[in-house]
Amino acid sequence: MRLKFKYILLLGAAGLLLLAAGKAHKEEAGGQEAEAEVALEPDTLSVFILGDVMMHQKQIDADYGTFFKYIEPRMQAADFCVANMEFPLGGKPYAGYPAFSAPDAFAKYVKNCGVDAFLVANNHITDRGLNGLKRTVDYYRDSLQIPFAGINNAPLLLEKKGIRLALVNFTYGTNNGLETQNPHVSLLREKDVAEAMDSAARTGADFIVALPHWGKEYELTHSPAQEKWARYLINKGASVIVGAHPHVVQDTAHIAGVIRDSLHTVPVIYSLGNAVSNMSAPNTRLELAVTLRFVSDNGKKRMLEPQLHWMWCTLPGRLTHSYATIFVEEWKDRRNEWRIPADYEKMMEHYRRISKAAKNSDR
Ligand SMILES: [Zn+2]
Repeated sequence: MRLKFKYILLLGAAGLLLLAAGKAHKEEAGGQEAEAEVALEPDTLSVFILGDVMMHQKQIDADYGTFFKYIEPRMQAADFCVANMEFPLGGKPYAGYPAFSAPDAFAKYVKNCGVDAFLVANNHITDRGLNGLKRTVDYYRDSLQIPFAGINNAPLLLEKKGIRLALVNFTYGTNNGLETQNPHVSLLREKDVAEAMDSAARTGADFIVALPHWGKEYELTHSPAQEKWARYLINKGASVIVGAHPHVVQDTAHIAGVIRDSLHTVPVIYSLGNAVSNMSAPNTRLELAVTLRFVSDNGKKRMLEPQLHWMWCTLPGRLTHSYATIFVEEWKDRRNEWRIPADYEKMMEHYRRISKAAKNSDR
């Protein structure tokens, strides 16, 4: 197994994870092609964020070696790659919706594709009860040795190139309503959010990245509740908000807020949609990933505008034999490579319509 992090420190009772000197080797692994695609300045810290990684029964039965094959170079090339893992590792028998239990080997596959940190505060993480939650957290920490956010209101610290980020992750709730104390799944409620945000601020991180699991499923526009929470997170110091859960891409916005006594406009990406899934509901196969970029100019640190990457999840038999998530930009002139060209047409129709609708809803 490749050791991705040079060291991981556990800091005290708060359980803060500090990652440092992350992916020195990743640039080599990603290769020149990936480097050129990303075209980052040397002092830019990049964080590539994927939406909901689903594991439905048909995906469990499929070859998951292709799921991220086409986007892996970008995942590897980023300084840090983060993904929402929308299932527990509950052991056998594995199962898809409604009560997920994904194979441990799938989580290992996702990590090997370049994901450096998992998000676990989501509505399915307690699908297999307290034991399933514990088993998942133990496996990530002890076997996979991958850090995660969304547990015990503890911010996850990522540090590289002299820039420190604190990631906080919350879910609106869990499907079975299970609330556990230890481990505790961080909830989108005032007590948890305030505790995590205050804790993140105390770490002295340069930027706080808030990753809420929220919103109404299949709605292409954010809800008033999401906007209310976005303003709360910004008032608590969030530098950027990247949400997931609706399984479709929602609109993006900029919301003004005062962070450390100065006025900022905070980018809010309300929902990334899925990263991979077997969903067939309308609009659930067009997806978004985001690259956050942070720069340090002579000690002055700032965040650049997030880059959005449109993706499409192809189902088995359409493009390849299994599921594969692809960048629309890389595939929009390659119709002849589809086994079923109607799937290409579908991708382009979704892309034109939803990317237009998702444009800034600034206010
Ligand atoms: Zn969800």
